[in-house]
Amino acid sequence: MIPSVLPTYNRAPLAFETGEGSWLMTADGSRYLDLGAGIAVNALGHANPELVKALTAQAGKLWHTSNLYQIPNQQRLADLLVEHTFADTVFFTNSGTEAAELAIKMARKYWYEKGHHERTNILTFEGSFHGRSTGAIAAAGSDKMVKGFGPLMPGFVHLPFGDHAAMRAAIDSHTAAILVEPIQGEGGIRVLPDACLKGLRDLCDETGVLLILDEVQCGMGRTGKLFAHEWAGITPDIMMVAKGIGGGFPLGAVLATESAASGMSAGTHGSTYGGNPLACAVGIRVMEIIADDAFLAEVGRKGALFRQRLEGLVAAHPTVFEAVRGEGLMLGLRCKAPNTEVVKAGYAEHVLTVGAADNVIRLLPALTITDAEIVEAITRLDRAATALEAA
Ligand SMILES: *Cc1c(COP(=O)(O)O)cnc(C)c1O
Repeated sequence: MIPSVLPTYNRAPLAFETGEGSWLMTADGSRYLDLGAGIAVNALGHANPELVKALTAQAGKLWHTSNLYQIPNQQRLADLLVEHTFADTVFFTNSGTEAAELAIKMARKYWYEKGHHERTNILTFEGSFHGRSTGAIAAAGSDKMVKGFGPLMPGFVHLPFGDHAAMRAAIDSHTAAILVEPIQGEGGIRVLPDACLKGLRDLCDETGVLLILDEVQCGMGRTGKLFAHEWAGITPDIMMVAKGIGGGFPLGAVLATESAASGMSAGTHGSTYGGNPLACAVGIRVMEIIADDAFLAEVGRKGALFRQRLEGLVAAHPTVFEAVRGEGLMLGLRCKAPNTEVVKAGYAEHVLTVGAADNVIRLLPALTITDAEIVEAITRLDRAATALEAA
C-alpha cells in the first residue's frame, strides 16, 4: 500500500522535535550535531532567537495580503538586496525551483522584447541542479531527474562541466543565456574556478548572452562572501537565491539588473505567496545579520578552520575519505567508501551530513557554528570513519 506521504524521498529513520543552533534533538532527548542545516537552509542555526522574534512579531500582525497590494516588508527586503548586490530589482518566490522558472522566463523575454524571438536557448554545465519543476529538470538534464517526465521543455544545451571551449562553441544565434552554479551543490561541491566564472562573464560580454547564476545553495554568506560570485570579481545579469535567505522559512528570489529584467512588465509573472509579509520579515532579519563584513569574515575564518581539520581527517582515514572540496562553510568530502555508508555511520555518531553526487558528503553547517562545534564535528566524523574501517 502506498504510504500516506508520497514516497519520493529516501528518508533516514530519524525525527527531530526541537533544534537549537547547530543541534537537533529527538523526542527522547538525543542530540545530533547538524552539519546539513536543512541543506544549507538554516543558515543562522535552528530556532535562532532573532529570527523567532522577527517571525512571531509579524505573525501577530499580518500573515498574507497578496501582491495585489503594497507589501512594505517585501519592499524593505528588496531594497536590502539591491543595496548589497549587483541587482537593480528583485522578484520574490517561495523556493529555488520557482526562482529557476523566472530566471528562464526573464532571459527569454529579454530577447523577445529585443525582437530576437529565436534566442531561447540556455546553456548549462552537466551535473547542475536547479530544482524539480519541469523547467528546472530540463535545465539540469540528468537522466535521474528527467527520466519518465518527458516531453521536456526544449531549449537547454548541456555541456561538460567547466569546458569553456565547448561553451564558446555552443553559443549561436539561438542562445539566450548561460546558467551555472558557481559551486555545484547537489553535483558534489564542485567549484567553478574564479577564472572560469570570469571567462563566462567575458563570453557573455562579447556575445550579449545573459549570465544567470544559481546561488540558491552557495549564496547568502555560505562561502564567506554574501554571494559566491563576488570571489571572482564579476557580477551576473540574473541570479537565483533561496535556501539560506529564509533561514528555514520558505523564501526565494530572483535578482536582476535593470537591463536583464527589462522584458518583465506588469502581468508577465506572479506568485500568490511570493514575498509575503511573514517570509519577508524573516528575510530582512537574515539579510541584516549575514550582509555584514564581520559576520562574513567569521564564516571565512571558520571555513578555513573546518577545512584544515577535514584535511587531517582525510589523512587519518585514507580508505574512507579521498579529498576535501569547497569554499567557506560549503564543504564536501569526496569519499572512497560509499557516501551513503559514511552518512549512515555519521548518524550512529549523532552527526548529520548530506550526500551529493560524485560520492561526496556535504558539510553545510549553520554559518553560526562555533569553533568548539567544528572540533566536535571532526571528533564525531573521526569515530564514524573508524567504525567504517572496522566494518
Ligand atoms: C536546492 C536548490 C534548488 C532548488 O531549490 P528548491 O527550494 O528545492 O526548489 C535550485 N538550485 C540549487 C543550486 C539548489 O541547491
